[in-house]
Amino acid sequence: MTDSVLEVIVPYGEGRVVPVDSGQQVRITNVNGQQIADTWVFCRDDVGEYQSAEHTRVHVNSLMPQLGEEFVTNHRRAILRLDSDSCRGAHDMLIAACDPTRYQLLGAAPGHRSCQENLRNAMSVVGHPLVDVPQPINLFMNTPVLPDGIVHWLKPAAQPGDAATFTCLLDVYLVVSACPQDIVSINVPGDIRIEVGASSSFTGISDRDPDSVVT
Ligand SMILES: [Zn+2]
Repeated sequence: MTDSVLEVIVPYGEGRVVPVDSGQQVRITNVNGQQIADTWVFCRDDVGEYQSAEHTRVHVNSLMPQLGEEFVTNHRRAILRLDSDSCRGAHDMLIAACDPTRYQLLGAAPGHRSCQENLRNAMSVVGHPLVDVPQPINLFMNTPVLPDGIVHWLKPAAQPGDAATFTCLLDVYLVVSACPQDIVSINVPGDIRIEVGASSSFTGISDRDPDSVVT
């Protein structure tokens, strides 16, 4: 495809919203390989409908969709399809977004940024400052669940330039927060790049060779 691609950089610690139409493809790239990207997807015609982690787990019978599988909304409609993933599934969809109380409990100075506030600030730009804060798709967050049920908190397994690519299946607002977590040692500050293009814009041309991923 030669259609133009919209590129948005999400600076470390900040959030951005991007409207994406049904059928368009989105690529989310980890520029430094170690930055967690909290990601939400809301329906544009009713922001009370959004990608729902708990409904998606039922839909795919797994903690995270595999390649070609769909994320669904809290109304059980398909909203997003995972097209490619050079990070080979080293993502999280269990851990809540960071918020001011989380940082207070961690002993951070008052005013520490958070993904919850980044989400609401981003959605206020498109007229929806009071949206729910659903469980995010925590791209590149490496917190596997061990066989005994314990969550293992690790640094991202991604490498610089690793990316996940999705096709949107509804008209949505996509929000990405480059998580400002700098107290729990699971995140290294960096930027996240969002690209939006026509169908198949990023298919087969861009992801790093998954065989070279160090896990
Ligand atoms: Zn966060």
